[in-house]
Amino acid sequence: MSGEAEVRERMRRLADLIRDYDRRYYIQDNPAVSDAEYDALVQELMQLEAAYPALAAPDSPTRRVGGRPAGDLKTVVFDEPVLSLANVRSEEELKEFHQRMVEAVGGEPDYVAELKIDGLSVVIDYRDGRLWRAATRGDGLQGEDVTANVHVIDAIPAVLTEPVTVEIRGEIYLPKSGFATLNARRLAAGEALFANPRNAAAGSLRQLDPEVTRGRGLQAFFYEIRHQNPLPATQDQTLETLRRWGLPVEEHWALCHGFADLVAFIGVWESRRHDLDFETDGLVLKLNNLEMTRALGHTQKSPRAQVAFKYPAEIAVTRVLGIALSVGRTGAVTPTADLEPVRLKGTTVTRASLHNANIIQALDVRVGDSVEVRKAGEVIPEVVRVLTELRTGREVPFQFPRECPECGTPLVRDAEEATWRCPNQWGCPAQRRESLIHFGSRGAMDIGGLGEKTVDALLAAGLVQEPADLYRLDGDTLAALPRFGDIAARNLLTAIAESRRRPLSRLIFALNIRHVGEKAALSLARRFGRLEALMNAPEEELAEIPGVGPVLAQSVAEFFRDPTQRARVQHLVEAGVNQEEPRTGADGPLTGQTIVITGTLERMSRQAAEQLVVTLGGRVASTVSSRTTLLVAGSAPGSKLARAQELGVPVIDEEEFWRRTANGAKS
Ligand code: AMP
Ligand code: ZN
Repeated sequence: MSGEAEVRERMRRLADLIRDYDRRYYIQDNPAVSDAEYDALVQELMQLEAAYPALAAPDSPTRRVGGRPAGDLKTVVFDEPVLSLANVRSEEELKEFHQRMVEAVGGEPDYVAELKIDGLSVVIDYRDGRLWRAATRGDGLQGEDVTANVHVIDAIPAVLTEPVTVEIRGEIYLPKSGFATLNARRLAAGEALFANPRNAAAGSLRQLDPEVTRGRGLQAFFYEIRHQNPLPATQDQTLETLRRWGLPVEEHWALCHGFADLVAFIGVWESRRHDLDFETDGLVLKLNNLEMTRALGHTQKSPRAQVAFKYPAEIAVTRVLGIALSVGRTGAVTPTADLEPVRLKGTTVTRASLHNANIIQALDVRVGDSVEVRKAGEVIPEVVRVLTELRTGREVPFQFPRECPECGTPLVRDAEEATWRCPNQWGCPAQRRESLIHFGSRGAMDIGGLGEKTVDALLAAGLVQEPADLYRLDGDTLAALPRFGDIAARNLLTAIAESRRRPLSRLIFALNIRHVGEKAALSLARRFGRLEALMNAPEEELAEIPGVGPVLAQSVAEFFRDPTQRARVQHLVEAGVNQEEPRTGADGPLTGQTIVITGTLERMSRQAAEQLVVTLGGRVASTVSSRTTLLVAGSAPGSKLARAQELGVPVIDEEEFWRRTANGAKS
């Protein structure tokens, strides 16, 4: 930037924008921009203020701790400011923090690393172990009194396990799952949707009527003791003390020795955090020694001995150029947004998932819209929000088609299902193509060289209609295909021939039966051993298999009832594919037995016991029927015991099971 006037103007505009966003965020619970955008503006302003300290405004929003109270609830004035945290965004910045700590303590310090919970910061006072007052953080100097609201949150105890007088700090949040249901309910009721779990939590807590708060499913985690005599000496003791008092503490924190441990913790949670049921955009790294933490003091805004580590932004804003539909191997029609290319987490993104018709409708995505895209755990980013405030009126609403975009067949969907699918399994070119690719894929028949391009070439030449046709291909025909030489042809033929030997489980998976993944295919193969037995298995017998269940059982039974499907499988058999699953465990003492396990086992987990049965040649079922040969009853058995007695099925206890299997394992 050149002239001083220009810099001053830029700083003023940034400050105005940030103030405006703060107001919408904290007071109206209705953010105008994503956190990432907001952070970028604050960063820029802070950098300018650092470079031109003379131009920094005394009332700059960077000097404030946070938002201001909304004004309707009673105000609480804090004795000591409720601080915020400084952010670091890279290993280098973290290293600088670490260096300062090394200098302060004179050696490699211990840290406590915690997950940073993305909720609403609260300060709660307990007197003689009873909840006395709860307040939001507000602007850090004064907050709002939300005592009545906190009283209706089940996760926050009204009485502690010890009669202590303390002030503690934590975070109230709405679990991701609760956020989804809350928004679904609001959508159904025609109410405005919350932008994210944090705003939903704030909107649910900051209510004049606690009855609104009740039933929203708010949760909390605590991590700081602000006032107590004496205070714990370390952060790990603080967390353990809070826990002991009966307060919820986020359980994944770790004590880290020095820098290397911190870096390792950051690495582990980069992807794992997406599996948590609360939102988090980073970690909080704290010097474990709290006396030293107090001695180091704080800047205007944050303690010197703690930092928030923020993972790289996973959200970007871009425009929707179009909405494309693709038909998958099971006929599911999946919409994706074609995007104006945008950088996100180090890659250029041009497409984002829209999941299904319901999501398109809920988001109200239109072609031409500006949208927020997020890349979380998944590889494909998703559209999470439409920036309706940026609409020009020229956006085109999207009509989900009634017919398959590939073959024109009217689409169907099961009750309760969000996904539309094309029912034309045999005639739909997209499904034929996808299921052939699936047939040759790694977890299925594993035919090297049968990728998308080859499948397209085979289909274009009319050589293959169904998987069995692959086994009739010959070298000359293949070599005559465009861009297909002698060697490629020979390699493909060998790979196809070899695939005949795959175990039954792979074949089952390759058949592309709806809901049947690799794991289920393996359970089915192990249970039945031979293809024919599976093809003729009654539905109720399928449902009994552990890990199968009624939905899968119905799907498998339906598949093998369909004459076209049976014919296709028959063609594969004629082509010489293997129809058996090799036995894993040799014949053992439990061969021929179908065993059900119920109740709690002391010596091993249920899972381990089931594994043992299979290893010793037996089968495990999940419900008792006339085919059950033995019931193993642990402590507190359920209704299965009564059912077994009713049917005259022999029952043994855990000790007996242990004895028999131990003997068996030796013989
Ligand atoms: P930020 O507002 O993004 O700078 O993040 C700082 C805020 O994160 C703090 O003021 C706390 O309200 C919140 N926070 C969430 N989890 C923790 C935690 N484990 N330790 C400390 N602060 C936390
Ligand atoms: Zn179709």
